Amino acid sequence: MRSSKVRPVHSRKIDTENEKKGKRFSLKMQKKLVVLFMAVLLAFVTLSVRLIMINKENGENYKKQILSQQTYDSKTLPYKRGDILDAQGSKLAYSEKVYNLVVDSKMILQSKDALEPTLAALDACFHVDIEEMRKYIVDHPSSQYYVVLKQLSYEEIAPFQEMQNNKKEYPNIKGVWFEEEYRRVYPYGSLACDAIGFTTADNVGAFGLEEYYNDILNGTNGREYGYLAEGSNLERTTKAAKDGKIIVSTIDANIQGIVEKYIAQWNHEHEGENAYRAGELGSYNTGVIVMDPRNGEILAMAGYPAFDLNNPRSLSGNGLYTSEEIGAMDNDAYYEALNELWRNFCISDTFELGSTAKSLTIAAALDSGCINGTEQYYCSGVYEVSGHKIKCNRRIGHDMLSVSGALEQSCNVALMQIGQSMGADLFMEYISNFNMGLKTNIDLAGEARTDTLVYDPANMVASDLAISTFGQGYNATMIQMAAAFCSVINGGYYYQPHMVKEIRNPDGSTVEKIDGRVLKQTISESTSQTMRGYLANVCSIGTGNHAVPAGYLIGGKTGTAEMYPRKTGNYVVSFIGFAPIDDPQVVVYVVIDRPNVQDQPYSSFAQEIAKNIFTEILPYLQIFRTEEISEEDEQHLIDLGIIPGKVGETPEDEEGEEGEGGEGEEPEEGGENEAPPLETDPETGYVKDPNTGQWLYPDTYEPVDPTASCLDGIGAMVDENANPVMGEGSLRQ
Ligand SMILES: [Zn+2]
Repeated sequence: MRSSKVRPVHSRKIDTENEKKGKRFSLKMQKKLVVLFMAVLLAFVTLSVRLIMINKENGENYKKQILSQQTYDSKTLPYKRGDILDAQGSKLAYSEKVYNLVVDSKMILQSKDALEPTLAALDACFHVDIEEMRKYIVDHPSSQYYVVLKQLSYEEIAPFQEMQNNKKEYPNIKGVWFEEEYRRVYPYGSLACDAIGFTTADNVGAFGLEEYYNDILNGTNGREYGYLAEGSNLERTTKAAKDGKIIVSTIDANIQGIVEKYIAQWNHEHEGENAYRAGELGSYNTGVIVMDPRNGEILAMAGYPAFDLNNPRSLSGNGLYTSEEIGAMDNDAYYEALNELWRNFCISDTFELGSTAKSLTIAAALDSGCINGTEQYYCSGVYEVSGHKIKCNRRIGHDMLSVSGALEQSCNVALMQIGQSMGADLFMEYISNFNMGLKTNIDLAGEARTDTLVYDPANMVASDLAISTFGQGYNATMIQMAAAFCSVINGGYYYQPHMVKEIRNPDGSTVEKIDGRVLKQTISESTSQTMRGYLANVCSIGTGNHAVPAGYLIGGKTGTAEMYPRKTGNYVVSFIGFAPIDDPQVVVYVVIDRPNVQDQPYSSFAQEIAKNIFTEILPYLQIFRTEEISEEDEQHLIDLGIIPGKVGETPEDEEGEEGEGGEGEEPEEGGENEAPPLETDPETGYVKDPNTGQWLYPDTYEPVDPTASCLDGIGAMVDENANPVMGEGSLRQ
């Protein structure tokens, strides 16, 4: 059916109605209408004249009244910034409503009897300096917005509001009101400070999650409009504020707490006046990342030293500066120091990875088919590459090593030969695929760029490739290494590391769930399986055995990287490990930047921290022990509260036997017949003089020079302008 047939029917109907209406407008009605119109017009004119009169006569008064109430009549209703929750729902950050006490001198002085009663009420409730207040009000009679006190809690202002509302008893309290705003609160203080970040007063996030998710956490302000209606009644219309969204972080506050406890413990043990660098902290920085290799979630991320998120502009309280030093700082120095403190070492600082990167090199060589794992390599302690004699960690050499053995013993010479079998192009292709030179794009503010800190294969010379195989030469951030390592052991899947797993509406309903994102495959499943076996060997029979927690098998790799410039004795020591070995569920990465000890490179410090962290977080993550534990270890676990104490034994007995570590150990280690065996460093083969603690060559017992370089001045891929750790001036000297 066509519509044209319908239309005339309708129009005819309308025409008919109009005709009827026209008929109804009789002459009589038209006259009435004119009269009504005239009446309305007259009323309008009268009103206008009246208004003009009012304005002329009383305009000043009206204006005063409106102006004096303007601040409360049209006020901003602040939105509430969204919470940051941890993975278990604990609040890491939230916003709490607070009140600023505002005084309106003009309003107070407008009525004759308001000043003294208002001052008395302020004194009674807030203990303000009455004389000062009176002076301010009298001296500034036209002031309408004077903030007397800031960020008061509701409990603090309630008594005053009660008096204010009690017009019978207190009719003359005038010109005081409360401006609402929100204050950001971090209930855990310094916990996860680098990762969370903080906000400035006007809800601008600085660093960490607060900065990265600023727009999501923020809402929009509302407004309340007021106007004077008939009889001077105040009418209001309100446009409600829209609160910000909530983010649920992947950080687990319990794991984060364990991590920070052991970072602090280690640093406290190596700081102070008796330390090697007297008066300094235990390290320039100590970073730890705990990551779930099955989805890229960051369970903990910490740097050292920390700062209090509730008071981020304080430089004191963390041992970094004395009050004299802080007092002597000018503004620039102060902010430079603060910025240094706020930096997130785990994502913002780059360094040469060192031997942990050997896991990437061997995975690449296996995966590309350049080696098959049956090869044998000879290490004499030094290997010559295009005229450079590049030393092994173990200066006395490793003799013959298998591929697994090369990783277990962390042999530079074997790694250099493995690198040669790949060639620069293929090696760099894998290294790029492990995301070296690229940002991980973790959802945190401040990730460093590393694109200028890796080699261009076209310009690589043989020695560049050689030192790259053992993690020197190119630079990366901790988060880059953690993400790359996860792919080595999880089947080859490179997950984008992330810190937020859910975004919620203010009412708690879900806006978005953020799951793990696989960006690429770095190596095959079978290469990954082989690597898990090799890395397990590192911790069971190789250099990583100091990191193994009692009762578990773990896999991992140690790292020692000589810092640039070479031969200054400065090292970054590290350990990266995972558990369980057949089904990795957690990766722990510990990096200590220049430990405060004389012999930085001969250390298992990073392993010690990793072991302590594993010991506590594995049971917490419900990863259960598979191995026997010694009585000593059992007691340690009882002391930590991880396993219950034995029934029938008193704690005194236990402490008497195990405490102090004195009686029980000596006969065991010392033996009755000979001098105690010398401690040998597993990576270098050096032995420790039991009397002086000095490292010695095992054959000559000559003291080792800690500044002797294994790289002998071979240049690093260092762009001093782009690199915050290596760049001069940015070091915390
Ligand atoms: Zn070697």
